[in-house]
Amino acid sequence: MIYIEDLHAEIEGKSVLNGINLVVKAGEVHAIMGPNGAGKSSLSRIIAGHPAYNIRSGSIEYEINLKKKNLLDMGVHERALNGIFMSFQYPVEVNGLSNMEFLRSAFNELSKFHGSEELDALDFAEFAEKKIKALGMNTDLLERELNVAFSGGEKKQNEIIQMAILSPRLCFLDETDSGLDIDALRTVASGIESFTNKHRAIVIITHYHRILEYVNVDKVHILKDGRIVSSGDSSLAKEIEKHGYKNLG
Ligand code: ADP
Ligand code: MG
Repeated sequence: MIYIEDLHAEIEGKSVLNGINLVVKAGEVHAIMGPNGAGKSSLSRIIAGHPAYNIRSGSIEYEINLKKKNLLDMGVHERALNGIFMSFQYPVEVNGLSNMEFLRSAFNELSKFHGSEELDALDFAEFAEKKIKALGMNTDLLERELNVAFSGGEKKQNEIIQMAILSPRLCFLDETDSGLDIDALRTVASGIESFTNKHRAIVIITHYHRILEYVNVDKVHILKDGRIVSSGDSSLAKEIEKHGYKNLG
C-alpha cells in the first residue's frame, strides 16, 4: 500500500530522516520502535503531509485503486480523503468544537468524496454511538469539546474512535499507547486489533513492547538516527525490551 524508498528529509535545516526504506502492504500491521528523537514522529508527519518538512531525496508512493501515486505530490487534504489517517502523539485541544461535530464533518467530507450518503446530526449520533460501543468505549466523549480536558487515556481512546468512524486504509498511530493504564491499553489494543483487515494497513509507533502483547504485528522495525537499523518479527521487540537500543545501528 505504501512504498518508501531512500527517504531523506529535514526540518529547520536539521536532518531527521537519513534513508528510510519501508514497504507496508494491505492487511499488514507493522510496529516502529526506537529511542527518543529517532525520527518516528517525523516519518508519520511527513506521510500526513506536514508542510514544515523538506524532502531532500527519495520517494513515497501510495497505492490507490491498484495504481501507485506519488504521495509527495498530494496535498494534506487529498491524502486524508484517500484514506490516510494519523493519530498524534499529542492530540490538539479545540475549544468550542464538539467531538461529535468534528467527527461528523470529517465523516461527511469523506462521504462526499466517495459519493456515499452524508449523515445528519441524528443519524450520525446513532452511527457513532454504535461504533463506540462496539469498541467497548464510553460514548460520553462524543458530547465533550474536542480533546478539551480529556485525560491522556481519553485522548488516545478518542483517536481509536476517530479511526473506527473514518475507516481509513492506512493508519499511523503515534504512541497511541503512551501514558495508558493497563485497562485503557487493553481497550485501545483491542480496538486496533478489531480494526485490522486485508484492505487496511496499520503502523503502530511505540516505545514499549507492552502493546505488542495485545496486538499481533507482522513486522517490527527499529528506527534510529533517521534510519531503519533492524527489522524482524515481534521477537525483535522482546529483544529491545531486554537489551535496549544501544547495540543496534
Ligand atoms: P521521535 O518521534 O522518534 O522521538 P521526532 O521525529 O519527533 O522523533 O524528532 C526527530 C528529530 O527532529 C529530533 O531531534 C527533534 O528534535 C527534531 N525535530 C522535530 N521537529 C522539529 C522542529 N520543528 N524543529 C527542529 N527540530 C525538530
Ligand atoms: Mg515521537
